[in-house]
Amino acid sequence: FITNAPVRTSSWCRRATAPGGGYFGLTAFIVEAGTPGLTVGPPYDKTGLHGSPMADVHFEDCHVPLDQVLGGEGAGASVFTSSMKWERTCLFAAYLGTMKRVLDGTLAYVGEREQFGVPIGSNQAVSHRIVDMTLRYESARLMLYKAARGLADGSDDEIAPALAKLAVSEAALQLGLDAVQLHGALGILTGEAEALVRDAMPSRIFSGTNDIQK
Ligand SMILES: Cc1cc2nc3c(=O)[nH]c(=O)nc-3n(C[C@H](O)[C@H](O)[C@H](O)COP(=O)(O)OP(=O)(O)OC[C@H]3O[C@@H](n4cnc5c(N)ncnc54)[C@H](O)[C@@H]3O)c2cc1C
Repeated sequence: FITNAPVRTSSWCRRATAPGGGYFGLTAFIVEAGTPGLTVGPPYDKTGLHGSPMADVHFEDCHVPLDQVLGGEGAGASVFTSSMKWERTCLFAAYLGTMKRVLDGTLAYVGEREQFGVPIGSNQAVSHRIVDMTLRYESARLMLYKAARGLADGSDDEIAPALAKLAVSEAALQLGLDAVQLHGALGILTGEAEALVRDAMPSRIFSGTNDIQK
C-alpha cells in the first residue's frame, strides 16, 4: 500500500541488511523508478484520498548502488523514525484546512436552514454539536502546531508528532461525520463534508495506525 506509487519518480524503502540485528540491522535505500527488479502494481480503487493513487511495490533481484543508501548502513530505523515525525506532523496539517472549511460551511448552514420556523442552529442539540466540532478542531490544531514547533526547533521528541497525528485524524473523522449529520440529507450528497469523512478514515490507518500511536 504505497502512497503515490503509480506516479513516483523514486521511493525509499528499508530492509534488513543484518537480519537479527534489531534496530541497527535495518538499512534505508532510495530506489529510482525504472530500476530493474522494481515493479509497481495497479492503482487500488479506494474510498477516499483520490488525489493520491496507491499501489503495491515489488522488489525482485533489484540492485541499488551504494550511493543510494540513506544515512549509512544500519541507519534504516533511525531514518524511518525521523521521517515518521515529519510525516505525522506535516501530512496532517492539510486536514486542518479542510476541517476549518467544513466547520465554517456548517456553521453558516445551521444559521440559514430553517425548520419549524427557526434556524436549526438555534436548537441547543445543534449548537452543542457545533461547539464539539470547534473544540476538536482547535485542540487538534494546537497539538499539531506544538509538534511543528518541535520539528522547527530540532527537537527529538517523538511523542508530540504521534499525539498530533492521533488528535488530528480522530478529530477530522468526527468533524466530518458531525457536518454530514447537520446537513441532513444534503450531507450525504457528494460534497466537502462527506469527502472529509472518506479522506479522514484512512488517516487513522496510515503513518502508523492510531492504535499503534497509543
Ligand atoms: C492511505 C494509505 C496510505 C499508505 N501509504 C503507505 C506508504 O506510502 N508506505 C508504506 O510503507 N505504507 C503505507 N500504508 C500502509 C500503512 O502503513 C499500513 O496500512 C498500516 O501501518 C497498518 O498496517 P496493516 O494495514 O498491515 O494493518 P495491520 O497491522 O494488520 O493492523 C490491523 C489492525 O490491527 C491493529 N494492530 C496490529 N498490531 C497491533 C498491535 N501490536 N497492537 C495493537 N493493535 C494492533 C492495527 O492497529 C489495526 O487496527 C498506507 C496505508 C493507507 C491506508
